[in-house]
This record gives sequence, C-alpha cells and structure tokens, in this order.
Amino acid sequence: MDGRIRALLERPELARARSFLLEDDARTLTQQRELTEIAAPSFGEAARGARFAELMKEAGLEDVEKDAEGNVLGWLRRGATDVQGAPLVVSAHLDTIFPPDTDVRVRQEGDRLIGPGISDDGRGLAALLGLARVLRTTRPPLARPLLLVATVGEEGEGDLRGVRHLFRQKGPARGAHAFLSIDGAGLSLVVTGGLGSRRFRVSASGPGGHSWVDWGTPNPIHALGHAIAAFTELPLREELRTTLSVGRRSGGTSVNAIPQEAWVELEVRSESLLELDRLDAEISSGAEAAITAVNRSANRRGRVVLAVDVIGDRPAGPMRPRRSCVPRSPPPAPSGRPPSWRSPRPTRTSPCRSGFRQ
Ligand SMILES: [Zn+2]
Repeated sequence: MDGRIRALLERPELARARSFLLEDDARTLTQQRELTEIAAPSFGEAARGARFAELMKEAGLEDVEKDAEGNVLGWLRRGATDVQGAPLVVSAHLDTIFPPDTDVRVRQEGDRLIGPGISDDGRGLAALLGLARVLRTTRPPLARPLLLVATVGEEGEGDLRGVRHLFRQKGPARGAHAFLSIDGAGLSLVVTGGLGSRRFRVSASGPGGHSWVDWGTPNPIHALGHAIAAFTELPLREELRTTLSVGRRSGGTSVNAIPQEAWVELEVRSESLLELDRLDAEISSGAEAAITAVNRSANRRGRVVLAVDVIGDRPAGPMRPRRSCVPRSPPPAPSGRPPSWRSPRPTRTSPCRSGFRQ
C-alpha cells in the first residue's frame, strides 16, 4: 500500500470518521432514495438541484448556491489550514439518462433499492452529503478548502456542461488542487483518466421528388448509406481503445418518395485526442466522398448537400502518473478488497483539458 495512504489510515481522526459514516448510513440511504425520486433528466435538473441545495445546507456546508448553469455548490472552508488555498473539488451529477415521463419511484427488494438512476448518480449525490456531514461532525484537519458540487448535464447531450462551467475562466474550480467525481455505486473501481468522445450529426438534403417520375434525382438516404459504409470501414486503433458507432438515423416521408432530408448520428470514443481528431477529419471526408459519388451519378436533377455538425465533444485526458495526486497503489475498500485503477471516465475529461494541475 502507498505510504501516504497507510499513514492516513492509522490516524485516529480517520477511525472516528469511519465510525460516523457507518452510524450515518441509514440517513445516507434515505437521502439517496429521496433524490432518486425527483426526476432529473439532462436539462431538467432544477427540482432535484433545489432539494439538493437544501440538503447541502442541512449538512452544514457554507455559501450554498446554484450557479448560472444550474450546478449546486457548497463550501467547507472553516478549519482549513489554508483557507484561501486552491480547493479540492468533489462532484456528483444531478442528471440521469431517463426521460421526464419515467416512473422514478424506488422500490425495495430484500436489501436492494431499485429505481432509475439510483446508482448513477443517486449514490454519488448521497455520498457528497455524507462526506459533508462526516467532515463537519468529526472535524479532521483539512489542508485546504473543500468544494462540493452537484453538476448538471453530465449525461448524453448534456455534454458535461456543468463541469465545463465550473472550469470556465475564473470559475470556482479553475486552478483547483484536485478534482474527484463520485459516479455510481460500488467501491471497487477508481478511474484516473478521461475518455474522449465526439458525436456527429451528418445531414444530407436535396430537392426530393417522386420515386418513379423524378428518378435520377440524387437521394439523400442513398448518399448517407454510402457514408455509413465508409464510416464502418475506417481503421480504428485498438491499442488506444477507439470505437465508432452509428447510433441513430432518420429521413424521408414516404416509401414512394425520394426524400428531401436524411440524417445519421454517430459517436467515436478514444483515449487519444489525436485519434478523435483523425476520425473527425475522416468522417467529414468519407461523407463528402459519398455525397459526391451520389451527385455524380444523378441525372442533373439537382444535388444533395451535406452538413457535418459536431453535437458533442468530450476531450480525452490521460493522467500522467508521476504528476498525479493518485497514489501508486490503491487503499483497501471497506470490503477489504483493494479497488482497481482504470482509465478513463467521461466526467474527468473537462478538468483534464482545463489546464488542471494533475
Ligand atoms: Zn454517471
């Protein structure tokens, strides 16, 4: 075990804190359940955020506020050796992947609580409140201020808007000492880098027409079919864990009409920013080539026009171990089993690209 972790585990304050967390566990679970039962789809986190702000105040955090993006922030400054120092930021996310009309009630089966988003990230939110209570109650010495944040827009098209806002120029997390994200249940995994993803919408539009009368008019769906075939042929660097997937497509109005519009959405993921950039360029050129081929074969009855839009961008950010705040070997989890380190995780990407000191 890392020497710093061993020394920490031997401190009496930590033993007190661990006992408090066990005693406080029932309240943590109750709050996890309550927060999960407040619907919070991405871009619809306000109600859950408002309740979270109340719970942050109850937990004894200072200067609790909602920022312009909808993140809820609370500070623990009192008692820190360096009150003005760069904070340690600990976050969990308010939003879930579930649409607004989802039944979010939580049910219990034996000792399991089951509900949409109860782990991801109901657990992280409850853990933030538990962390605030244990630090306020057992008062271990803190080297620096602690900033706890419930963020918005972590999932899907939220595109990390909450974390990005925290790390904006002059944002409260800019220049932070370290950033931790608690995401999901489980004690066995610590993620130490950022997985990049880039999402695209490729659209094609043309004059359209009747499938028989206007035959020869270039067909946007045919063009996108060729484009999808080109995307799936792109070479991916396996050693850098790179993936490409077409996830959605739509277009046309009738089976006997040449459509006027069609689109597909695809996502690439990689641990390497260079790979993301390479695939970005190849997706654009592959789509361009497909459209050109379809236009060339058309009977001069108009042209299909292409648009490639980036609809999501989470940059990759590997953590360099020598400069990392992460210990070389992991401390034991309460289960007794050591957790494993793994890279990467999407939420970590924004800090990694914000001049963040790792
Ligand atoms: Zn999550």
